[in-house]
Amino acid sequence: MTETPLSLFNSLTRAIEPFTPVHAGEARVYTCGPTVYNYPHIGNMRAYVFADILGRTLSFKGLSLTHIINITDVGHLTDDADDGEDKMEKMAAEKAQSIWDIAQHYTQAYWADVEALNIRQPAKWSIATDYIEEMIEFAKSIADKHCYECATGLYFDVTTVEDYGRLARAVTEDGEGRIDTVEGKRNAADFAIWRKTPDGEKRQMEWDSPWGKGAPGWHLECSVMGEKLLGFPFDIHTGGIDHREIHHPNEIAQNQAFCGCASGHGGLSEARNSGANIWMHNNFLVERSGKMSKSSGEFLRLQLLMDKGYHPLAYRMMCLQAHYRSELEFSWEGLEAALTRLKRMVMAAQRLADAPSQPVAEHPKFAAPMAKFEAAMNDDLGTPSALTAIEDALAVKKVDAGIKRAVIEHMDSVLGLGLFDLTREALRIRPKDAAIDEAAIEDALTRRKAARAEKDFAASDAIRDELVAHGVDVMDGDPMGWEWKL
Ligand code: AMP
Ligand code: ZN
Repeated sequence: MTETPLSLFNSLTRAIEPFTPVHAGEARVYTCGPTVYNYPHIGNMRAYVFADILGRTLSFKGLSLTHIINITDVGHLTDDADDGEDKMEKMAAEKAQSIWDIAQHYTQAYWADVEALNIRQPAKWSIATDYIEEMIEFAKSIADKHCYECATGLYFDVTTVEDYGRLARAVTEDGEGRIDTVEGKRNAADFAIWRKTPDGEKRQMEWDSPWGKGAPGWHLECSVMGEKLLGFPFDIHTGGIDHREIHHPNEIAQNQAFCGCASGHGGLSEARNSGANIWMHNNFLVERSGKMSKSSGEFLRLQLLMDKGYHPLAYRMMCLQAHYRSELEFSWEGLEAALTRLKRMVMAAQRLADAPSQPVAEHPKFAAPMAKFEAAMNDDLGTPSALTAIEDALAVKKVDAGIKRAVIEHMDSVLGLGLFDLTREALRIRPKDAAIDEAAIEDALTRRKAARAEKDFAASDAIRDELVAHGVDVMDGDPMGWEWKL
């Protein structure tokens, strides 16, 4: 994997390009993190599974990875353009809690999902409100040439940078699709750098600035933390595909402005000063009944999947079965199929559990699966094909178990399914509200086994009927080894 080049789809050029690090031997990646005003839904988590696969692949290629994921605890309005209320302020008011408590609670909840999905820890979780001073400094450096003040704050004039909106391929002349309700804006696509607190009001989160008391515009934080923590240009910037339309074009405009004003970055506001060389976007997870919407009451959180009895890594498997640039439709049937596939792999891996792990060695029997795996990942992170390569490797027969284990571990270090940490039992579907607990089921099954061993079929049938009455499906001889299911 270290020899063949990695190619990635760059949203800026809409083309697959070979990856060449800015700094030899290193990869610096910035991922737009969650706005912590509510629980993440599983669609949000798809964005982080994707960023994790990218990071693991870069590490696998032998690059030293610096990955930053931010936590947005200020500035994101209910509309991605400059309309609506601050999401954090709104939730805090609804719950009558402080914004800081809201942020704390939902950041912890997000981190729990990150852990449950085997998403590796980034080098740093950068918290937006820790960078307010730096945001003000950044804004000051571009204000004269690129910004103007109006009643509601400091705005960025998108006509002051070359080729604004090329990432979105937006028609910027008439600002199609943009919100134009802010009075005093010069162009529809102009956006807030600093939002002044209206006279006579007090916000929970506000800071002094040269443009009055207020809070930063949402796009500013990612430009600033990217520049501070990774330096311009860094290698890769990621986010969900919705960010290709407003958030990232605006970040890019700020970055161009900053590079134009700062020394050492070449010409004034040139389009090539995008801040990052490659911009990558995962497509959406969609769901037909509207359960993805956070305003729909019981929305699709990872915890809901777990409450219904699904192991969270079944959802990771579901994500990997689709290419990150394809839309993925969520369904419970699809989740169960992903769980079954994961279970099959785990059962095959468990047969190697006693083999001592060893450094991965070249072995002719694994040459084809390894080549397939590497080609798949090198080709813009082709996880669907990489999964079949793992299955091919697991199916190789009459080979030393230790070598086989090493090959599977090697591949799984990229896909992160934790095949050797999971067990068949851990993958059972066990809903939270099940009428019977697992110990009771296991106990009944042990008694049934004993009855059958003694050829007491009446007793064995009675135990089975009792289990069925409690909603337990006893699956004798099931090749998947479910044994029972609720
Ligand atoms: P937010 O917390 O709204 O800023 O979103 C966090 C991340 O999730 C961003 O990268 C979004 O682009 C991404 N995202 C939002 N909705 C979905 C979805 N349905 N499927 C995949 N990614 C999503
Ligand atoms: Zn961002």
